[in-house]
Amino acid sequence: MGYIVETKHLTKAFNKHKAVENVHLNIQKGDIYGFLGPNGAGKSTTIRMLLGLTYPTSGDIRIFGQDLKQNRIKILHHVGSLVENPSYYPHLTAYENLEVVRKVLQVPKERISAVLQLVRLKHVADKKVKGFSLGMKQRLGIAAALLHQPKLLILDEPTNGLDPEGIIEIRTLMKNLANQGITILVSSHMLSEIEQVATTIGVIVKGKLIYQNNMSELRKLAKSRIRLRVSDMFQAQKLIRGMVKDEWLYTKSQTDQEVAQLIAKLVQHDISIYRVEEEKRSLESIYLQMVNGANKQ
Ligand code: ADP
Repeated sequence: MGYIVETKHLTKAFNKHKAVENVHLNIQKGDIYGFLGPNGAGKSTTIRMLLGLTYPTSGDIRIFGQDLKQNRIKILHHVGSLVENPSYYPHLTAYENLEVVRKVLQVPKERISAVLQLVRLKHVADKKVKGFSLGMKQRLGIAAALLHQPKLLILDEPTNGLDPEGIIEIRTLMKNLANQGITILVSSHMLSEIEQVATTIGVIVKGKLIYQNNMSELRKLAKSRIRLRVSDMFQAQKLIRGMVKDEWLYTKSQTDQEVAQLIAKLVQHDISIYRVEEEKRSLESIYLQMVNGANKQ
């Protein structure tokens, strides 16, 4: 299947420092692609390259199946974005702010009320933006990005600095937009902010994409595991073909029956069992482990 966004060997160096290195992004149609990584990981630089705001040092970018270098104007005509804090005129109303953008984009007037409806700001259309909360301003920025009915929407940390309510608003909005067939790339440094909406996750650390898979695969990693502490870890490991990590013996067994059989086997071989635990890993801890692992390298 063709990708909406596909990068190959994408690299950006500032002097000698590689802010983005050899990144292969694969974003499918209809995806809400959660682009995760700690501050300074290279998310914004990648996004700026996708938007043609800065040029790659090397590598290729294809959007809608076309090379960005050769079809920049045509491609960007179908891309909406919110990067950095949206700029607006505080003394103008929400409607008037969108009217300014609408004139530049030359789209029909009806689009203004359509996008205000989408981002749920219609009731404050005639209120001055200076009184808006940060969340409302972000949504106004997204409304502006949607005026020309893009097929791809790129949001760089849209939930940064928002309160929980604001985060939920943006989340709901992304879901609605995805339901309408818009593909979304959204960056964040917190998995918890996007795990409920993302269909695919890409993790970037120190410029390198260290993980890219769909959400269901990531969730599988978060499945609980049974772990043991026994008198003879070495022999027990051989007997049950487990894995020893941090002084725990991890088993592959999942069902009660499998665990019972495994314990019986250990007892038969005179191994004392001190502890049997179910270890649950949260998605956030898996993400942090990935980031910490990559940071150590
Ligand atoms: P993120 O968006 O994940 O926080 P960035 O893409 O902003 O990360 O930054 C990645 C790295 O590139 C950082 O080390 C940052 O200091 C560096 N960087 C970003 N833009 C520039 C620039 N214009 N000049 C020099 N270094 C830059």
